[in-house]
Amino acid sequence: MAEPLLDIEAAREQVLAAVRPLTPEPVELTAALGRVLAEEVASEGALPPFDASAMDGFAVLAGAAAELEVVGESRAGRPADRALRSGEAVRISTGAVVPEDAEAVVPVERTESVDGPGPAQRGRERVRVPERSPGDHIRRAGEDVMAGELVLSAGVRLGPAEVAVLASLGRPQLLCGPRPRVAILVTGDELVEPGTPLGPGQVRDANAFALAAQAERAGARVVWRALVPDDLEATVAALAEALEIADAVCVSGGVSVGPHDHVKPALAHLRVGERFWGVALRPGKPTWFGLRDHTLVFGLPGNPVSAMVTFQLFARPALERLAGAIEPARARTVAVLDESVPRHLLRDQAVRCSVTVGPDGWHVRPTGPQGSHVLTSMLRADALALVPAGEGEIPAGDRVDVELLR
Ligand code: AMP
Ligand code: MG
Repeated sequence: MAEPLLDIEAAREQVLAAVRPLTPEPVELTAALGRVLAEEVASEGALPPFDASAMDGFAVLAGAAAELEVVGESRAGRPADRALRSGEAVRISTGAVVPEDAEAVVPVERTESVDGPGPAQRGRERVRVPERSPGDHIRRAGEDVMAGELVLSAGVRLGPAEVAVLASLGRPQLLCGPRPRVAILVTGDELVEPGTPLGPGQVRDANAFALAAQAERAGARVVWRALVPDDLEATVAALAEALEIADAVCVSGGVSVGPHDHVKPALAHLRVGERFWGVALRPGKPTWFGLRDHTLVFGLPGNPVSAMVTFQLFARPALERLAGAIEPARARTVAVLDESVPRHLLRDQAVRCSVTVGPDGWHVRPTGPQGSHVLTSMLRADALALVPAGEGEIPAGDRVDVELLR
């Protein structure tokens, strides 16, 4: 780490520049939530597909108040069987086709049904309607989407609204980016699984759980998890397997230069090319990134908070880009700091903060002690405040950049 360390943005750009999006695959609309669209979607027809009534009532000609004969009905999905003529009204439901030659719809609550004036009209339904103008209460064909219009672009993540629009466009299947396959390795002789009692000097593995959860949240599929001892051969074997089955490998711990840190030598042995090692970031300085062919490898620090923060800042955008996202979700905003934060002279800091909303917008407050081993500082952390390196402190009341976590 003799060279000046990359800052957060530069490291993130290096990661994103190295990502080659995965080949798209067809996905059923029912399984498309959260996937990244990999095609341009244009509408074949118009939406609504026909002039439709916006109300329950009567389809009529425009004009002055009048008494009209009810000659038929247009229901949703069952249009009237003939055009409308002068002196007539057609009963109509919301969403039903406006009959040919009808000019307006009168809502039922503004009408009055009347008896016919004499024996000849008995049994025929008549209705009194007020004055109305052309187009009243009619939803025109194409008001929502016109035929041929581009509605969704490749690279957007499909949420409930996108899924609903795709259904209304009649698309049962889409081309989407695959869910990237992620392998997660945690290294450390001291680590034990939850459920196992702690022996002397042991700690429970948190990172495999943290990183798997974060990967799932990012839309990826965790295909392998392994707990690897601090041993070069075991580290090489585990990484070799991970490289075979994953699009991205996240390995935590053992990435520094201590006598029991074997990740870097193992990666070198496996010909994973280093792109950077070290980011001017706290927590998260000893972060390593490299590639073998198109497989991404993130060597993340062992301290659980550092592992989670560096995953959020570097691995998550990479997974989104692998899936084809154009602009990896960067829920960035600016918030008022409610508590002063000392700056670090050389490193930017990612300060875990809770978020509240005040009359002047968003506010953030650190969740408590910020040590990289204080995993509970991630609880109630809605955001990372990104505090630039420098002298002194950022006083309470100043605005800082924040990256939202949920
Ligand atoms: P390392 O980066 O391997 O030097 O680890 C730094 C610190 O993080 C040590 O205190 C480790 O015990 C701790 N640590 C490493 N991996 C994990 C893990 N998977 N879960 C919890 N703590 C870990
Ligand atoms: Mg270790």
